[in-house]
Amino acid sequence: MEVTRPRRAAAGSGERFAVLDPATGEAFDEAPDQRPEGLDAVVDRAHEAWRGWRTDSVQRTKALTAAADAVEAAGADLARLLTREQGKPLSESYAEIARTAARLRYFAELAPRVQPITDGRPVHSEIRWRSLGPVAAIVPWNFPLQLASAKIAPALAAGNTVVVKPSPFTPLATRLLGSVMSTALPEDVLTVVTGREPLGARLASHPGIRHVTFTGSVPTGRAVARSAAASLARVTLELGGNDAAVLLDDVDVEGIADRLFWAAFRNCGQVCMAVKRVYVPARLYADVVEALAHRAKSTVVGAGLAPGSRLGPVNNAPQLARVERRTAQALADGARAVTGGSRLDRPGYFFAPTILADVPPGSPVVTEEQFGPVLPVLPYRSVDEAVEAANGTRFGLGGSVWGTDLDAAEAVAGRLECGTAWINHHAELSLAQPFAGIKDSGVGVAGGPWGFHGNLRPFVVHRPEEA
Ligand code: NAD
Repeated sequence: MEVTRPRRAAAGSGERFAVLDPATGEAFDEAPDQRPEGLDAVVDRAHEAWRGWRTDSVQRTKALTAAADAVEAAGADLARLLTREQGKPLSESYAEIARTAARLRYFAELAPRVQPITDGRPVHSEIRWRSLGPVAAIVPWNFPLQLASAKIAPALAAGNTVVVKPSPFTPLATRLLGSVMSTALPEDVLTVVTGREPLGARLASHPGIRHVTFTGSVPTGRAVARSAAASLARVTLELGGNDAAVLLDDVDVEGIADRLFWAAFRNCGQVCMAVKRVYVPARLYADVVEALAHRAKSTVVGAGLAPGSRLGPVNNAPQLARVERRTAQALADGARAVTGGSRLDRPGYFFAPTILADVPPGSPVVTEEQFGPVLPVLPYRSVDEAVEAANGTRFGLGGSVWGTDLDAAEAVAGRLECGTAWINHHAELSLAQPFAGIKDSGVGVAGGPWGFHGNLRPFVVHRPEEA
């Protein structure tokens, strides 16, 4: 497929910045460094395009469905580029692109409906859901396409236009996504801007933006909320997680070990709702540590484009340094690296898949988000103690409970303080479900009809009933 450039991306800036391959640590391409001053023109055009796009939901359904077709047709190019700049194994990039297309199709079928209000009064009242205007989508580097589409698809389906800003660590696949989707969309309905800070901050505070939908870390989420306060734009924040998996006494350790391991290590552990802590009954502790360590040792770590790699590099040098710091701190706190524990001695940002035992519960690898291939395993004596520990961080994204008696597991799952709880698996999401972290994990609701309505405002009309 020929790679076309986004029609409106990064207009007005001749500067570019290097994009690194995390498997080598070396630059392999570059992206336009949009200057924040250029955002006025980008947002103005998005506003102009909104006037037409918001009027016809049938046209939107057709265009978004065609955009999904175009994404699938470009799957091979998108997947290679995504793996190159993000680091994940190629098969995971293909899976990400499949989910991106599926999300476009799901939201293409949603259209704002007129909703009558019935309250017994002799007045006919109805809600006519209306779009907001240009939406800013600010995206992190762990799932650049999937998370961009989670913002683009509901916003466009609702009749808004979108300006996407990917992470400077992963700008290229999103640029290509923008140009591929734009072949099916009217001009300026979707724009991708790439660049370094303060581009995100300026986009979030731009007076022409009516909704800022952000996924990323908690500190940046707070900064985005402050920026958006300038224009009082609506804000949706999907932030960090520190999900606990609680294993119950009747768990089938060998039966669940693969699923549990990959729930923690998929995408090199760089998943907001990865399993980031495992709580195990003391009686089963040695068995679970051994089962997970066995899998960590036998996982093939390598470049995402190398055949057979199951685990790629960490995406970028600052993140690798963070993973190293958290791990070193845990070891200094008295934890034991059953396997792994350090970066691998080779070029690129590779860190050995690591299982930590005997971790003090107050160590930052337990209380904070490690966001890398490192998993602390902690013993507990009573289920109450495990639930309290699972709920004992400032995060509240997801959690899971693992056991053979599903009713007992569900009862424990119901006690987790988070947005989504799973039984015997983790981080499986339906396109039709709401996705909403609590505490520091987020503000607002994404996903399903709730995420769609997060991109609409109610306009209410009252009129007396006919005499
Ligand atoms: P990050 O917060 O550093 O950056 C996210 C995005 O914000 C990037 O595009 C970045 O360039 C931009 N940005 C940076 N400073 C900004 C500012 N002042 N104003 C506006 N935008 C700014 O996050 P990251 O390191 O790219 O991603 C990892 C984090 O994302 C982890 O904490 C992870 O848990 C979180 N995450 C959350 C979810 C979720 O759905 N809850 C999903 C994936 C990742």
